Amino acid sequence: KVKVKSDIEIAQQAEMKLIVHIAKKLNLTEDDLELYGKYKAKITSSKLASLKKYKSGKIILVTAINPTPAGEGKSTVTVGLGDALQALNKKVAIAMREPSLGPTMGIKGGAAGGGFAQVLPMEDINLHFTGDLHAITTANNALAAFIDNHIHQGNELQIDQRRIVWKRAVDLNDRALRKVIIGLGGPLEGVPREDGFDITVASEIMAVLCLASDIEDLKTRLARMVVAYNKDKKPVTVGDMKMEGALTLLLKDAIKPNLVQTIEHTPAIIHGGPFANIAHGCNSVIATTTAAKLADYVVTEAGFGADLGAEKFLDIKARNSEINPEAVVIVATLRALKMHGGVAKADLGKEDAEAIKKGFSNLQKHVENIQQFGLPFVVAVNRFYTDTENEINTLISLCEQLQIPVALTEVWEKGGAGGIELAKKVLSIIEENQNNFDHLYPLEAGIEEKITTIAQKVYGAMGVEFSTKATKQIADFTANGWSNLPICMAKTQYSLSDDPALLGRPENFTIMVRELKPSIGAGFIVALTGDVMTMPGLPKAPAALNMDVDEEGKAIGLF
Ligand code: ADP
Repeated sequence: KVKVKSDIEIAQQAEMKLIVHIAKKLNLTEDDLELYGKYKAKITSSKLASLKKYKSGKIILVTAINPTPAGEGKSTVTVGLGDALQALNKKVAIAMREPSLGPTMGIKGGAAGGGFAQVLPMEDINLHFTGDLHAITTANNALAAFIDNHIHQGNELQIDQRRIVWKRAVDLNDRALRKVIIGLGGPLEGVPREDGFDITVASEIMAVLCLASDIEDLKTRLARMVVAYNKDKKPVTVGDMKMEGALTLLLKDAIKPNLVQTIEHTPAIIHGGPFANIAHGCNSVIATTTAAKLADYVVTEAGFGADLGAEKFLDIKARNSEINPEAVVIVATLRALKMHGGVAKADLGKEDAEAIKKGFSNLQKHVENIQQFGLPFVVAVNRFYTDTENEINTLISLCEQLQIPVALTEVWEKGGAGGIELAKKVLSIIEENQNNFDHLYPLEAGIEEKITTIAQKVYGAMGVEFSTKATKQIADFTANGWSNLPICMAKTQYSLSDDPALLGRPENFTIMVRELKPSIGAGFIVALTGDVMTMPGLPKAPAALNMDVDEEGKAIGLF
């Protein structure tokens, strides 16, 4: 068996350059930076404001097929493709999400890429980074505290305490906090009520921060957020509570994007981190547009498969910010295709070309979905060292038979050098300019119609079943004037359907919408399907059990 270095061993052996040197590649001077130590910096508000008049570079979106629980290497390919473009002498920047401590301590592994395609300093990025997620958690909970205090102090706004929709948040997986009772202990301890926690990355404040174009827009969006309904069932907003100023103040640094570097010193802007299953799954608009103003090419990712992250990137983020992607990379791995072909998790290491042929249907659906959006694409086969030649050839010839552009990608093992073929193919499809990008649905369509369009066209469902609660909410939301917003689907990442067990390309299924949530500040309606939850739990043996730190404070076992 080959001895493979872990991500953290590779990251710790890599030599970083001072962040001021990396910034120069994007024509940023030291004055444009707020330094967080030697290797991390935020870009100043005045520099961000001055970028508005710059022309934008070309945006490349990296997405994937439906993943296995370990992830299929989107972040890895995003970083590696950025490095490969840099190796081809392109002026490039990467735009990625900030990792959440929930999955880091839980199951998934770091979210800073892998192998020789990583962003650095890897430990910082995976742990507390520049504190953005903590600031979001604090703003979220400050608002919660003010709502309860408002009721305790006489409830001037007549908030119905059974209809408070604002939950508390923590950036951890903690199933015990999904439903809690607060305010126990008598009249001096507040008013008792049922409450609950979401993971920070599912908080509307995370979505708002990621969709805001600047600090003023952030404040306007925060003011619009609905926190509760009053005794007449009318929405009560942050603006009604006069809290938008304080919340914006708590977020004044978190809204500035963070600059770091890859192992090969490509500039990377890492900012914002909503999950793609329970939120909109994209790094911040500020990160992507800043990267685009500063570089000729931007490689950015959207979470989980193209049914979730890419659909929301294209229908929510791109629409909100007039971001026009030039090309899409669809990451596929043999292990995930084998799983979609019916192979059990324990057997994924065994050669099985037949299973790849069966599981190919999943990739094919994602390819068709990107074609529906009118975007040119390349499939990136993210090679694992355990993949056999026979399996690789099987997948590549399946793609070639259908004239699907494909590139074998070895960035995990080789860094940018392993992504040259992919980079050249991406550059050539951008050059060919066959881009007819359009959104999947018009905003004016009703809530029910928009959800049905996504379910049928992207997931391949026969239709959608709405619970009694969801049907009633559609009527209420429409009456509140919220029907022209895009939809943010909350759905399992493992299947094209809302049932994680249905792999491959499921047919003859319906999507069950059990509840809707208005995210009026973010500017979308969340539709919760199946039994997807906004506060994940931990597995039996959490990743945290492998973590440690030595006497010098060096992290150990962080993937
Ligand atoms: P995603 O962004 O799709 O969730 P990541 O890029 O974060 O996936 O990768 C998930 C994990 O898989 C990381 O720990 C990474 O090191 C590992 N990984 C990714 N690609 C490869 C590869 N080609 N070979 C081995 N491990 C890989």
